[in-house]
Amino acid sequence: MKALVTGGAGFIGSHLCEALVRRGDTVFVLDDLSTGRFENIERLEGVTCVVDSTLNQEIVRDLVREVDVVFHLAATLGVQLVVDEPIRTIVNNIRGTETVLEEACRYRRRLLLASTSEVYGKSDREVFREDDDRIMGSTHLSRWSYAESKAIDEFLALAYWRSKRLSGVTVRLFNTVGPRQTGRYGMVIPRFVRAALRGEPITVYGDGKQSRCFAYVGDVVPALVALMDRKDINGEIFNVGSTQRITIGELAEQVTKQTGSRSPIVSVPYDEAYGPGYEDMRHRAPCLDKIRAAIGYEPKTTLTEILDAVIAEMRRDPLLDQ
Ligand code: UDP
Repeated sequence: MKALVTGGAGFIGSHLCEALVRRGDTVFVLDDLSTGRFENIERLEGVTCVVDSTLNQEIVRDLVREVDVVFHLAATLGVQLVVDEPIRTIVNNIRGTETVLEEACRYRRRLLLASTSEVYGKSDREVFREDDDRIMGSTHLSRWSYAESKAIDEFLALAYWRSKRLSGVTVRLFNTVGPRQTGRYGMVIPRFVRAALRGEPITVYGDGKQSRCFAYVGDVVPALVALMDRKDINGEIFNVGSTQRITIGELAEQVTKQTGSRSPIVSVPYDEAYGPGYEDMRHRAPCLDKIRAAIGYEPKTTLTEILDAVIAEMRRDPLLDQ
């Protein structure tokens, strides 16, 4: 099979390329290297990388024509980046996806859209189910522009299925983590591990009682491939993640323990971290019933194992996440 992976030089994208190459697929990557790194894929045989944006319709058209399926992962993401660059976030995420969907439809290519658990917003449900209501904050707070832009992407992908019968599915990824993820744009695990290994303070935002479920990229990627392969599933949205919940305060302690670090754990108010009026999601956990029923998905890697992998990578290459 020939696949196009937009955002293929990024963290999840590069792991996906690796999995596709491993099973013998030919892979084309479209990545503007804004947050992705060419080093993530340079050693992969059978991958052709085009450095350009999903906003470049001609390039998107040429690539889509070449392939059988499209994994659309390219997006502007990471809380820090989204807050710092709201225009780029909105334009890339909406116009970029519009362009990729339009071209996928032109050539009738099945498409997997990577969306996010952020679309659930600040709902206080125990677990989020795919058809739950969504609760968004004010438009004055840039943070929500990411969730809204991805929600528009979802609407559009569903509309393409309903109106034009464009084959495909959408996945909502919940805090995917693992080697190659950078902490530069806000992600907590690489930030904590890097600080711990350098003996610098580990900064817990807010009261540290907010919780997340961290999913290993090595568990998530096979689910994306399996959903793409299930051509009988169309116009559906699936949560993908883990159900192992931990508070950010506990995460800081676990990172300190697993690295053997003496870093102090310090509490930083949200305003100081992300600017005035920032709103965080208190808890975020997926209901996995739907994806379990569809493809038998079961996350296997524990948080301890995930942290060990991330710690080992940063120890090997301390300059990795500068
Ligand atoms: N966080 C933190 N310290 C950091 C980075 C993040 O305490 O240096 C918190 C953040 O406020 C959130 C959680 O860790 O509550 C997860 O953040 P991340 O950006 O990784 O993912 P999110 O769940 O916000 O999309």
